[in-house]
Amino acid sequence: MDFLPPPTIPPLIEQLRAFMETHVLPAESAMHNASVSLSDTIHPIQEAAREEGLWMPQIPKEQGGMGLSLLEHAIVSEVLGESPLGHYALNCQAPDAGNMEILIEYGSDVQKERFLAPLLRGETRSCFAMTEPERPGSNPVWLKSHARMDEDEWVINGHKWFTTGADGADFVIVMVLTDPGQKLHQRASMFVVPMDADGLTLVRNIPVMGDVGREWASHGELRFDGCRVPEHSLLGERGGGFYVAQARLGPGRIHHCMRWIGVCERALRMMCERAATREVAPDDPLGNRQTIQNWIAESRAEIDAARLLVLRAAWKIQTIGAGSSRADISAIKFFVADIMQRVLDRSIQTHGALGITDDTVLSTFYRHERGARIYDGPDEVHKGVVARNILQGYGLKRPKR
Ligand SMILES: Cc1cc2nc3c(=O)[nH]c(=O)nc-3n(C[C@H](O)[C@H](O)[C@H](O)COP(=O)(O)OP(=O)(O)OC[C@H]3O[C@@H](n4cnc5c(N)ncnc54)[C@H](O)[C@@H]3O)c2cc1C
Repeated sequence: MDFLPPPTIPPLIEQLRAFMETHVLPAESAMHNASVSLSDTIHPIQEAAREEGLWMPQIPKEQGGMGLSLLEHAIVSEVLGESPLGHYALNCQAPDAGNMEILIEYGSDVQKERFLAPLLRGETRSCFAMTEPERPGSNPVWLKSHARMDEDEWVINGHKWFTTGADGADFVIVMVLTDPGQKLHQRASMFVVPMDADGLTLVRNIPVMGDVGREWASHGELRFDGCRVPEHSLLGERGGGFYVAQARLGPGRIHHCMRWIGVCERALRMMCERAATREVAPDDPLGNRQTIQNWIAESRAEIDAARLLVLRAAWKIQTIGAGSSRADISAIKFFVADIMQRVLDRSIQTHGALGITDDTVLSTFYRHERGARIYDGPDEVHKGVVARNILQGYGLKRPKR
């Protein structure tokens, strides 16, 4: 098994680290300053990134990206993950990255020109609306929102929430029921809808742990009230929404997990710096306490184990495909999310009261990443996938429902 990167990757990582130091880390304070527009902060950084040839690592070269493989992008994603702004800098942030990928794969020529091209150029943003307040997001085949054909238009009615980045987005890719009489996995379709379409309302940015968020860093509640869109707004095949969603999520989990490992590395580095310098008595730094040493040692081992597991999953997806790597993808999702939470918590604890203030990046990470155990499928669902995969080898049968 060889999942080591090719020799072109280490110099790229070196370049990226220098870019992060120069352009990204100094801009982080804008996250806490509601009077500063995130777009105004991020656009100049994106310009600098583009000048250095650092733009959309996971997108093919012919589409203007760097054409990295999944495994290579995973390694890049870790470096970018060390800052909440890292992925935005290279225009490879969720949910835009996933939307780019499905528009490239399933979009019509009209959709590519109108929606994809400006997104790839970094001129617009997008969002993805599947989850509904009234139905469990953990069961993506049980949606309430729906669309029906009326003459040559689709009419969408529904209620969505936790639509990340809806605030200021140019368009939304929304998944709704179109064929309720079909088999379970063939009932929903996806539509590309401009955010200024009649009948579509961004009701609010949902406050999360005291932070209402804005622009990229927000989660919107959307209502579709008789929202009429042309027939060609359908993305992919009618009834194929579930499969498009699956295609979007496989590589996306690798991106997220490596980003989380970047979060872990930053938190561990901060924990070590604090432990080495914070004196709890004259000439007696915190790092001399065994509890802190345990946290540091455990974090180091856990992060390294997590990285290997994710890289192996990326290598498997590249080698045998996402469908055959389902259990591996589920395993990294819950394993890394859990480790990230633990490492962040230890780092905050090591910083004492400072750790929960907005004077360090730790509070931003903590607030934004608690959701990691919930989004992209709750951890418990993924544990079920892994366990069932193992138990099938022991002859376990699923109950008939
Ligand atoms: C930060 C964040 C960003 C998000 N961004 C988006 C987005 O951009 N677009 C979008 O469409 N959605 C987004 N979501 C929504 C996310 O996908 C859903 O929250 C997720 O799928 C879970 O759905 P739910 O919240 O309805 O929880 P439910 O489905 O109601 O589940 C609640 C809890 O029940 C338990 N549970 C559920 N099923 C099982 C099971 N089979 N076995 C054991 N336990 C189970 C789990 O503990 C779970 O946390 C985001 C969520 C968060 C937190």
